[in-house]
Amino acid sequence: MTERCDNPFAGDPALEAVLSQHEPLAAHTWFGLGGPARWMARPQDIEQLAELTRRCVRAGLPLRVLGQGANLLVGDDGVDGLVVRLDRPVFKRIEWPAPEGPQGEEVTVRAAAGADLGRLTLEAVRRGLAGLECMAGIPGTVGGAVRMNAGGRFGQISDVIRSVRVMHRDGRQGVVPREEAGFAYRRSGLGDVLILEAELALRRDDPRRLHERYRAVWEVKRRTQPLRENSAGCVFKNPPGHSAGALIDRAGLKGRKVGGACVAREHANFIVAREGATASDVLELIGQIRDEVSDRFGVDLELEIELWGCRSSGGARAGTGAVGTA
Ligand SMILES: Cc1cc2nc3c(=O)[nH]c(=O)nc-3n(C[C@H](O)[C@H](O)[C@H](O)COP(=O)(O)OP(=O)(O)OC[C@H]3O[C@@H](n4cnc5c(N)ncnc54)[C@H](O)[C@@H]3O)c2cc1C
Repeated sequence: MTERCDNPFAGDPALEAVLSQHEPLAAHTWFGLGGPARWMARPQDIEQLAELTRRCVRAGLPLRVLGQGANLLVGDDGVDGLVVRLDRPVFKRIEWPAPEGPQGEEVTVRAAAGADLGRLTLEAVRRGLAGLECMAGIPGTVGGAVRMNAGGRFGQISDVIRSVRVMHRDGRQGVVPREEAGFAYRRSGLGDVLILEAELALRRDDPRRLHERYRAVWEVKRRTQPLRENSAGCVFKNPPGHSAGALIDRAGLKGRKVGGACVAREHANFIVAREGATASDVLELIGQIRDEVSDRFGVDLELEIELWGCRSSGGARAGTGAVGTA
């Protein structure tokens, strides 16, 4: 980790009060791996967030937003720049519609970026608001889900998004309608913005029926995923016409280990991090999987997880998709 400048946040005691240095990121990710962030901030409000982003731009410091770290691998040396967590109450607020209304009515829910996706989903089900049940079993924040267009075979979050409120790097805010947000399979095209809030269009339905649907989705996840172990969900995107997990399985890679990193037996597209694992172990294993799947089937697997501060995955032939400081 290289340090680029002394302290771009000096001179503002309120800002300094929400900052920490050399914050270990392993504790903030589902993999439980990775080194520290040079700076971490937990802003109290939108104005502080805007000031942080403006100062980063002025100082040429990279700024990343961390949700719950459910889709991230952080390199062992950590990351330079500022990592922002939106975990104060103002960034977790959810606005619900009036409780009563006719079945089938479309209603609006506003969920701030730091809100927990699992809680939002369960509460929507409890209130008889349909559209999010397909997100059962997907960990993370609303911001992370919007950025990744989280979902699966039962649906994806963009199906119910009406618009996204964002902050640009100069602190200005804007609203991006769904049609302009560039949603596609496990990605959004929102660009270099901070997601502040999603406006969702849900539909009134019978809570019991919704609960059944939620349970059915959750049951599939429980049966097929290694939910008790540290992972970041599916490591690779499904290539067109293929299942990444099936290709990895057919290549005989289930159970393959590098150090403490292991291809899960329950689901070949999951890598689990066991005792003693490092981010470098996971990267090496990713490289081996990409190379062997490419050799066997001529398919290049693209990463679904994001890499922070990782310089190489060791997958020399397939390429890494890794960036230095994205
Ligand atoms: C056990 C398990 C099961 C999973 N199953 C699924 C699944 O079925 N389907 C699926 O799609 N995913 C799945 N995932 C992956 C993960 O849950 C999703 O990608 C989730 O949306 C990540 O949210 P997060 O808040 O943890 O984001 P993070 O992992 O913290 O961040 C992911 C990306 O989003 C960006 N980001 C986060 N918040 C903001 C914001 N406010 N503004 C701008 N950018 C932001 C980050 O900078 C980063 O680039 C699974 C993960 C685990 C561990």
